[in-house]
Amino acid sequence: MAVHRTKMLIIGSGPAGYTAAIYGARAMLEPIIVQGLQPGGQLTITTDVENYPGFADVIQGPWLMEQMQAQAEHVGTRTMWDTIVEVDLEGGAPFRAIGDSGDEYIGDTLVIATGAQAKWLGVPGEQELSGKGVSACATCDGFFFRGKKVAVIGGGNTAVEEALYLTNHSDDVTLIHRRDELRSEKILQERMFANPKISTLWNKAVESFEAGENGTLSHIVLKDTQTGEISTIEVDGAFVAIGHSPATELFKGKLPLDANGYLLTEPGSPATAIPGVFAAGDVSDHTYRQAVTAAGMGCMAALDAERFLAAQDFAKPAAVAAE
Ligand code: NDP
Repeated sequence: MAVHRTKMLIIGSGPAGYTAAIYGARAMLEPIIVQGLQPGGQLTITTDVENYPGFADVIQGPWLMEQMQAQAEHVGTRTMWDTIVEVDLEGGAPFRAIGDSGDEYIGDTLVIATGAQAKWLGVPGEQELSGKGVSACATCDGFFFRGKKVAVIGGGNTAVEEALYLTNHSDDVTLIHRRDELRSEKILQERMFANPKISTLWNKAVESFEAGENGTLSHIVLKDTQTGEISTIEVDGAFVAIGHSPATELFKGKLPLDANGYLLTEPGSPATAIPGVFAAGDVSDHTYRQAVTAAGMGCMAALDAERFLAAQDFAKPAAVAAE
């Protein structure tokens, strides 16, 4: 069991984590990034990526993450294939984390970039047709359904926003909800009800997603939550929008979280309640949730970590600072 020391410890290896690593390495902070259970994060389970700037042609999510990892390593990041199972933030910097491997990581600063996971319904066909008509992100994949028939499942803000967004691409959007009233904000509901491209199916739970002959989604089997009646709806695309779960289990009771479990940061900044601990990407952002915004926040976290360390050095007595 080894002990790894660094000026910048990064937990999580999505766009936020790797961008923090790239900036941290170039600031000579010799970052260590601990990859976690899903190295590369949510982009590794998507296929086509068309909205990450810098690529004129469509790129693949897993490829993009390989590139980010290679770039981070090229400038001096150490990537650890390990999953943090415990963190100790008490007493301030340096921060201690324990990996699943038993290794210990000590960071003078800590960047939390553990991300979030879209919640899935867990019904037959959902995972099999993921990327083949079933998606959990309209902003990412809506464009691929131009002029096609699509459905959104859910009744919260995300579902309604996704339905509205999809009308940019499709004239036939159906919102499917398990109850007969939405939980989303009234203003969003008004916008949705006023949009002639969106229709609603109430009291319907998804039983399964079914493929057509070409292996992509062709219809959804629904069960009426009041009568039990089974029906089907033909669609080319289905967007599951029943919420996200931020990966913040490790930080409960150690850092302030909002009501939905997201890490709280200072407005417009990646700073958490503990000086030297920064949060970037989906773990602290339930609004934008894009690879490019996560990358931007990773950059901000690294720049602030560098400033934090510079201020620490400045505060130290000269003899200690020179050690
Ligand atoms: P929510 O938890 O608010 O809503 C989830 C929706 O999915 C609910 O309507 C719920 O149904 C439904 N649902 C959950 N599980 C299932 C299931 N197994 N089967 C069928 N339906 C299911 O999640 P959101 O992602 O919409 O929002 C999360 C938070 O982020 C909220 O606080 C929201 O306000 C915020 N947000 C804010 C935005 C903004 O301000 N612009 C944009 C997006 C999100 P039911 O209602 O029956 O429980």
